[in-house]
Amino acid sequence: MNIKNKNNVLERNNNNALIMITGPCSVESEQQVVDTAMQLKKTSVPFDILRGGIWKPRTRPNAFEGVGSRALAWLKKAGEMIGKPVGTEVATPLHVELCLSHGIDVLWIGARTSANPFAVQAIADALKGVDIPVLVKNPVSPDLALWIGALERINNAGVMQLAAIHRGFSTLDSGEFRNKPGWTIPIELKSRIPELPLICDPSHISGKRELIQSVSQEAVDLLFDGLMVEVHCNPDVALSDKEQQLTPAAFKQLMDSLKLKAETTEDSEFLRHITLLREDIDKIDTDIIKLLGERMERVEKIGDYKKKCNVAVLQPDRWKEILKSRIEQGEQSSLSSDFIENLYKLIHEEAFNRQERSS
Ligand code: PEP
Ligand code: MN
Repeated sequence: MNIKNKNNVLERNNNNALIMITGPCSVESEQQVVDTAMQLKKTSVPFDILRGGIWKPRTRPNAFEGVGSRALAWLKKAGEMIGKPVGTEVATPLHVELCLSHGIDVLWIGARTSANPFAVQAIADALKGVDIPVLVKNPVSPDLALWIGALERINNAGVMQLAAIHRGFSTLDSGEFRNKPGWTIPIELKSRIPELPLICDPSHISGKRELIQSVSQEAVDLLFDGLMVEVHCNPDVALSDKEQQLTPAAFKQLMDSLKLKAETTEDSEFLRHITLLREDIDKIDTDIIKLLGERMERVEKIGDYKKKCNVAVLQPDRWKEILKSRIEQGEQSSLSSDFIENLYKLIHEEAFNRQERSS
């Protein structure tokens, strides 16, 4: 990939500070974007780019789909009032054209668009010969090749101020997140294209305010180059993504809370390894829990037979035999007898309670 390292506004600066992009999910009115910008300025938190969505790709029709091109001038004005470049999402060549004619400084390609090579190529064609920084969000699905493909299409059009934004993935088991982080994917992207700045969007990963701090800290720990955080002057009445937008004051608290890590090679190696190992651990734990559930199902079936045949729930000999054999097995896997004894006491207690309940 051919990326400009000098004068790229998406690169970390000499102080190695994070690249910070912040502003509302959507530009809703001139007043709202100006108020948000002025309040952000008042916090004195350093940031690099004021963001605001003009055309909103919504999953369902009839949700607020953005104000459209008339809001471009409001965003630009808000940026000028606080002396910051402004950025917005583009999904079509017409969006690109309108942004360029309104002096928008930075563009990004959203997750729903980066998933579609036709749409990305059309945007790339519209960007030929234009020197504007472009950020490419990961596609909604956890598909690293598709993400890299989108970056390559934009880069091949001659865009050299390029960065990637990790905003999590839409998966069946997103857990507490709106979009599952799947950290191994952006980490793999960084190891394949180290010169590409990598920015995390904790707002769209989290989907709710409470998770934004921990996701941001994790991104910082993993040596991301920057953050894109949604901030609104009055999130409770926001027309899109209101659960995840922060007030400017909460944004300041977030930034004050982040503990920045030094960037050393050993560190990034170390973080890469532990992230992979933690993913292994998550998978193993999923298996352990599933197996425990299956074990308890058998226990309940035995309970039914005991009840039918009028046999006591507690079987001291069987319990002694279990404890003895499991401790021996544990030793073979370097697990202490204390640990196995405690673990099986808990399992046995639960099994006993379940059989008692049904007896
Ligand atoms: C956004 O940044 O407002 C947005 C729509 O994000 P994404 O494309 O990541 O869903
Ligand atoms: Mn949003």
